[in-house]
Amino acid sequence: MVEKSTPRIYVFIITEMKNQKNLKIRLSKYFNRYIRLKECLETTGSTTSGFCFTCNAHKPFGELDAGHFMAGKNNSVKFIEENVHIQCKRCNYFERGNLIPYTLRMIEKYGQEKVNELQKIKKQAQKFTDSELEELIKIYKLKVKEYENN
Ligand SMILES: [Zn+2]
Repeated sequence: MVEKSTPRIYVFIITEMKNQKNLKIRLSKYFNRYIRLKECLETTGSTTSGFCFTCNAHKPFGELDAGHFMAGKNNSVKFIEENVHIQCKRCNYFERGNLIPYTLRMIEKYGQEKVNELQKIKKQAQKFTDSELEELIKIYKLKVKEYENN
């Protein structure tokens, strides 16, 4: 029996997909941490605790998630700051984002037009290149560092 080897093009695609996935995981880590630090500071004046965007519960930093308003196809809205806010575990996890108050708060904070715009972006497919992801990682890593050093 002749052993078939995986064509090079597939090896390349699989390697590239793995790399993209790892870059997105790294970016999420810094991006989400940045959102949590920024909004804790905005809502309480300290990065150690914050108020949930959707139920206003006061929680320590460690009990707040970076909760997405909209989940997008191909990550198109995953890394848009206006689409992500701190949420307590109950709202983000058990209430699956607590979308009715989330929508109301979004309109209150940014206006209906911005919400419509995010809805439009959500439907678009966004492809990041590796270097774009690497650049974003650098930016958010630095932003996190700035908050944590102050
Ligand atoms: Zn909440």
